[in-house]
Amino acid sequence: MSTDSPRPQASEPPIAEAHVMGGEEATDLRASPSLPAPEGAAPSAPLDFRGVDLGSLPRAALRARFVERGLPPFRAEQLYRGLHVRMTRQLDELPELPLSLRQALAIASPLPRLEVVQAPVSALDGARKLVLQTRSLEVIEAVLMPMPGGWTTLCLSSQVGCKMGCDFCATARLPVRRNLSAGEIVEQVAVVCRLRAEEGHVRGGVSGGVAGPLAARPQNLVFMGMGEPLDNFDAVCDALDILTDPKGYGFSPRRITVSTVGLAKRIAGLHARHPHVHLAWSLTATTDATRERLMPVNRGVPIAKMVEALQALPRDPQRKLTFEYALLAGVNDGDDDADRLAAMAIDLGAHINAIPFNVWPGAPYERPTRARVAAFAARVAHAGAGISLRESRGQDIGAACGQLAGQAAAQPVG
Ligand code: SF4
Repeated sequence: MSTDSPRPQASEPPIAEAHVMGGEEATDLRASPSLPAPEGAAPSAPLDFRGVDLGSLPRAALRARFVERGLPPFRAEQLYRGLHVRMTRQLDELPELPLSLRQALAIASPLPRLEVVQAPVSALDGARKLVLQTRSLEVIEAVLMPMPGGWTTLCLSSQVGCKMGCDFCATARLPVRRNLSAGEIVEQVAVVCRLRAEEGHVRGGVSGGVAGPLAARPQNLVFMGMGEPLDNFDAVCDALDILTDPKGYGFSPRRITVSTVGLAKRIAGLHARHPHVHLAWSLTATTDATRERLMPVNRGVPIAKMVEALQALPRDPQRKLTFEYALLAGVNDGDDDADRLAAMAIDLGAHINAIPFNVWPGAPYERPTRARVAAFAARVAHAGAGISLRESRGQDIGAACGQLAGQAAAQPVG
């Protein structure tokens, strides 16, 4: 196909479309004159999708891949809708795509798949931990948490394991470490949508009035599971593209929170791509000395650097900033800590989520007493900062903050 191939007349549907309308299969979409090949493209291999990770591509990127191969963009839209609205992972469940195209797509990288290995439900609060196995047999975890008012929040993982090495976190002990693809991140949401749809948790108001798995999506997403989201920046941003796309999952960015230990360099980039998602800073200590001990990231990015990055963001009263603060007995739960924390929160307009430490087997820290936790929160509030005391969900099933450890497949190191 050359770049000056004649385009079809306005009344004439593109060839590929005509095949579908006529109920026939196209035999070779490369022959379609509906779109020119890109300049310099090798005409012999426009339908070669080898190595293309279809499930990880945001809609615009997927369209671009199709157009590069001389395919009409509406075919990309059809595939995208199949993957992210109907949530099918079988190309033969997409009869709207011609057989020849499905065959071409079949040699792309396999679509993401996460197998539910275990799904224990907390007897304490109804939280459900989903232990999920990737195609390459690693285990990640996501947690579905019922919230007041019948809402649900899904806590997503962004990496297998985590190299940030926070001393209070079980995930940091995992031997396996790799980034999840955007498709694997999104797939955690798809798994939950399918499960909830099967269980009848379907609600209205989703894009296009779509029934099926999308109508069972949770209301809120938080990137607070395994991994440091900003250490897997591109995949997390691509996943956010798909999750917030009105023609994909359709989540409002205001229903999504991305948490970070403080990768200050990535804050501006995240804001550039997703200005409206909420940010959570996993702070946990208010002096560099203590924070360096608890969170090695602080050696490269001291507190002041992260404060500077946050202060540089344009003001947006709709975008929330929270400090996540794990309370560790005798480490960061003193009156001085409370005073410094309150001052920082007031300065940055942040709300504090204080979470008494969830002890896991072999953890080198303890949970403060109830009285100490209450006194800490009261002191912060008295200073004028907003603070909520949170109890992590799913403590009895190892689903609480800092407990996610892929126990089904991996043993903690050391
Ligand atoms: S707390 Fe978060 S960033 Fe730190 S090691 Fe655990 S998963 Fe990684």
